[in-house]
Amino acid sequence: MNGRNNPRAVAAAEAAVQKLAGPSRKSSVIGSKQKCTGVFIGGTSFVRGRMGAVGSLTCCDALRCTKCDFRVEQFHNRDWSDDVDYLFFRNNFPTEAKLAAKMRARPGSVAYCCQCSWMSTVEESKLDFSSDVRWVCAGHLTE
Ligand SMILES: [Zn+2]
Ligand SMILES: [Zn+2]
Repeated sequence: MNGRNNPRAVAAAEAAVQKLAGPSRKSSVIGSKQKCTGVFIGGTSFVRGRMGAVGSLTCCDALRCTKCDFRVEQFHNRDWSDDVDYLFFRNNFPTEAKLAAKMRARPGSVAYCCQCSWMSTVEESKLDFSSDVRWVCAGHLTE
């Protein structure tokens, strides 16, 4: 008799594997993501983070573009040069050193861009279906 093909040992091993992969693991969610209640962009004077149902205006720092599917980058105290175009972002996003070639210093302004769209702003503005850009909140990790 050798133990290698002992059917009881095999059954026990399978049971152990099933226990590990069992439904009990589903309850241990490692952090969950919550989206902004309204999606805002704005200048450097606005708080960055997740806009909740209550509290002061918060500019989303987890923006994602639904057109190019890239994360939206933000550069503080910067403004885009007037001659930037689609190809510039297409070729240089998301390398800050390359994008900097078309950035101007502008205190209070935040320059936003993804691979297909860009804008810069000092004021706050809400993003919705009527906006020029298709940026949405990708969700923020919560405790
Ligand atoms: Zn957000
Ligand atoms: Zn885009």
